[in-house]
Amino acid sequence: MTEISDILKFYKEIGANFVEKKIPDPSSELRELSQKILLCKKCPLHKGKTNYVPGEGCLAPDIMFVGEGPGETEDKFGRPFIGKAGQLLEKIIEKMGYSRESVFIGNIVKCRPPNNRDPQKDEVEACIPYLEQQIKILNPKVIVCLGKVALNTMLNANYPISRVRGNLFSYMDIPLIPTYHPAFILHKKSREDVSRVKWETWSDMEKVLAIVKGD
Ligand code: URA
Ligand code: SF4
Repeated sequence: MTEISDILKFYKEIGANFVEKKIPDPSSELRELSQKILLCKKCPLHKGKTNYVPGEGCLAPDIMFVGEGPGETEDKFGRPFIGKAGQLLEKIIEKMGYSRESVFIGNIVKCRPPNNRDPQKDEVEACIPYLEQQIKILNPKVIVCLGKVALNTMLNANYPISRVRGNLFSYMDIPLIPTYHPAFILHKKSREDVSRVKWETWSDMEKVLAIVKGD
């Protein structure tokens, strides 16, 4: 019987080098990238963190959510969006007909900034290549950026989130829709404000779903 190794040898001998080409494997590519992140010392944020938070989820997601950076709970457990804001995000994801596991959840910076301050320019510049590599591997149908830091970092702009939320942008040739950060909804005090921003967030998510469906 002809062994597969003989067939490969034959192809090699006749110069058909396609058999040597690596087939892209998102799970190993993402694993390798996460391992790189877990050793990263490219910016000072690694010094104050407890755990790196590389991001997690589906390998071929329709939707990729991008937050700002790990908070206290995320830093403690090394997982994105698992605190209060994360619980609200999970509810939104479920209302959209997905689950945490069937989307990808990441952040602009993978280490917690001290006292949850905004990440600084040098920290963002050091970390953003990881997000770009994640996007390249995952190739989501749509990116949702959560809040003004993610929005203005990814679009290299200075937009007020309330003005541009729900608008269609693009990042690395992938449709991008900004919406409020779930923590922003949680910080609203009056019932009217809460229901308004929830309603606005949901109308943004309907646009996201329309893009996924190709409408
Ligand atoms: N807020 C973020 O921006 N990211 C997290 O992972 C958690 C809270
Ligand atoms: Fe590296 Fe990003 Fe952590 Fe900075 S925030 S140390 S660039 S992983």
